[in-house]
Amino acid sequence: MKKAAKKAAAEVTETAAKPAGKTADASAPAGSAEKKAAPAAGKTAPAKKAPVKKTAAKKTGSANAKKTVPAGKAAVAKKVKPADVVVPGGAAVEKGTPVKKIAVRPPGGESPTALVRRARRINRELAEVYPYAHPELDFENPFQLLVATVLSAQTTDLRVNQTTPALFARYPTPEDLAAADPEEVEQILRPCGFFRAKTRSVIGLSKSLVENFGGEVPGRLEDLVTLPGVGRKTAFVVLGNAYGRPGITVDTHFQRLVRRWRWTEETDPDKIEAAVGALFPKSEWTDLSHHVIWHGRRICHARKPACGACPIAPLCPAYGEGETDPEKAKKLLKYEKGGFPGQRLNPPQAYLDAGGRPAPPLGAA
Ligand code: SF4
Repeated sequence: MKKAAKKAAAEVTETAAKPAGKTADASAPAGSAEKKAAPAAGKTAPAKKAPVKKTAAKKTGSANAKKTVPAGKAAVAKKVKPADVVVPGGAAVEKGTPVKKIAVRPPGGESPTALVRRARRINRELAEVYPYAHPELDFENPFQLLVATVLSAQTTDLRVNQTTPALFARYPTPEDLAAADPEEVEQILRPCGFFRAKTRSVIGLSKSLVENFGGEVPGRLEDLVTLPGVGRKTAFVVLGNAYGRPGITVDTHFQRLVRRWRWTEETDPDKIEAAVGALFPKSEWTDLSHHVIWHGRRICHARKPACGACPIAPLCPAYGEGETDPEKAKKLLKYEKGGFPGQRLNPPQAYLDAGGRPAPPLGAA
């Protein structure tokens, strides 16, 4: 099984990009420069660096995480520093309160240090698999990103990206959208689903931007969460990708994957955010969010994770929850990993350079 994991990993990473480096892009979060130097080219299989026999070899979803981590990797040892204990894990997080550091508390028998090492190693591997990772919503300014993120609830980023060109062409500023006829906006947003509620949210937040923030999207968490329809998740997307301020985006993919990896057993998004935040330096939070979400969308799916084609299988305690046959697993891959178009109509150049393809406009075949 280890061989299979290695082989699959090599196949997947071969499909990964060989970018010449991440180009400057409005969507690129600050602090992503280190990813630029981590192309997939030359990478064979993570298993090479992760001689983990027990996890990849055993088809079990409950393997002791200790068994998945090779002991004493000198390369990471210096960087590993579990977060300080400031408040007890699991403490409730107020809507506008920045996350406090909490104690690293592994859910299994793994030591806190081993968990931090394994978590950071997974993130490094994913950075090589997705060196072009970026927000998958098309946007040209913070206002567009804020609106697009609100619209992305209960639908795909692709559908939002296919819808927002008409919206922003008709209502390019918060002032325009604040004064819009709701019925007109509803017609534009219909493809996104829940279009009446979403219309209320985007018009409401536009009014609040005009009345309370001079028509500008605020760059502080505590201000963003005062806007109608904007919670911590949306606020962190905006802060991380429009303002370069680190944040963890706990969406459905993030929740699923961090539990599979046994980074935490929390189920409340705010507690997950705090627990995972304790495993990584703050400067990595935004890119970490992209890596995890990209992996969830492409390989580690909710119903059928493509374990047999997963580059981090040797590090994953949940290996075997999905398809382990490499050929069958390969057929489960999505977007650029499966040879399909991505979600953005206007993706960053690094994505295109890596062989990624833009999404089609609404109504295109
Ligand atoms: S696809 Fe998901 S569950 Fe399967 S090995 Fe990869 S990360 Fe683990």
